[in-house]
Amino acid sequence: MQLDQHYHLQGVALYDICDQFGTPLFIYDSATIIRQYERMQSAFSVPHLQINYACKALSNVSILRLMKKLGAGLDTVSIQEIKLGLHAGFTPEEIIYTPNSVSLNEIEEAIQLGVRINIDNIEMLESVGHRHPDLPYCIRINPHIMAGGNANISVGHIDSKFGISIHQMPLVERIVATLGLNVEGVHMHTGSDILDTQVFLQAADILFNTAKKFDSIQYLDFGSGFKVKYKPDDIETDIEEFGRQMSERFNAFCKEMGRDLTLMFEPGKYLVSEAGYFLMRTNVVKQTTSTIFAGVDSGFNHLIRPMFYNAYHDIVNISNPSGHPRIYTVVGYICETDTFGFNRKLNEVRPGDILALRNAGAYCQTMASNYNSRLRPAEVLVHEGQAHLIREREVFEDLLRHQPEVAL
Ligand SMILES: *Cc1c(COP(=O)(O)O)cnc(C)c1O
Repeated sequence: MQLDQHYHLQGVALYDICDQFGTPLFIYDSATIIRQYERMQSAFSVPHLQINYACKALSNVSILRLMKKLGAGLDTVSIQEIKLGLHAGFTPEEIIYTPNSVSLNEIEEAIQLGVRINIDNIEMLESVGHRHPDLPYCIRINPHIMAGGNANISVGHIDSKFGISIHQMPLVERIVATLGLNVEGVHMHTGSDILDTQVFLQAADILFNTAKKFDSIQYLDFGSGFKVKYKPDDIETDIEEFGRQMSERFNAFCKEMGRDLTLMFEPGKYLVSEAGYFLMRTNVVKQTTSTIFAGVDSGFNHLIRPMFYNAYHDIVNISNPSGHPRIYTVVGYICETDTFGFNRKLNEVRPGDILALRNAGAYCQTMASNYNSRLRPAEVLVHEGQAHLIREREVFEDLLRHQPEVAL
């Protein structure tokens, strides 16, 4: 992990960044993002590899620009993410749009912007295909495989709303043949936090068989679900081993097809999770009959994963490195159950101490809200030894900004 024992990133002390920009604060380490990107890139040896960053994990435009600089494409799930990507400098061809349950109007707008369209619904394929028979399409299949860390983030199983069932491929083929559609890609994404890469390899055969049905196929997109460590002893995806096995199969498939195809992935969490730290200041230390609570200047409005997914995030007290450890439950200020971590061993916490919560890069800031009329935190990117403010802290006026004054 990138953070040293003295809580520095690239030589900059987290403590000093908090001093400069205040708390609560999201801090991202570009070196970790670059390391993860390069690890993934070198894990595969195939004719063409394309890594599309799933920007719903962390969509700050400075992060998108960093991804662009590294050579990534972009995986988007909304028209707004497409516009952010274009704003950050991605070309339309570098952006793939994978919508679910969106209106035909939104898909139409995405088509006008020129991005790649990944269709996950037969009715949509038919109606969009009728109107735009010449566009290149990607088809999202549902391989009916159970994978993913928990039910909310597992999206490839039989009851999932995502993708077109592999059992419906005969109908897809009929539509494609009748309308003369150009299917350039096939796609699947079975969930997040997949422990067992055998799941990917099992699904690979399904995707290969699907790809064979389309003469115009250019790429196979295996989605994501790569797992990172949230606890020191967690299992993470062995990307190097998976890369070896997957490359072997992909290369055999290219040989079978008689041409070079592109292998695509769309990681979110894998690229940014470990790069992020969420810094909170302790407001109160409160001892009850059973528990010592450390109450901080934030809550699930800023970082919802512990309460929403029951996710574990490591927490450290960076203000008291030599303090003796005690057991705390770290809670936020929201007026309902609002716990960041139960029974955590932290160096003695005193009011004013800064706690750093790890793995705050993915699905943290992007899921933040103004619940309890709280302001959303600032974001800082540490890059080449410098801390850059990449999102300003909200101010009170932001809460009123879209509320017209109505005389009642
Ligand atoms: C969310 C999502 C991803 C990224 O998943 P991670 O677990 O963050 O890597 C990739 N593809 C699609 C279609 C997604 O919806």
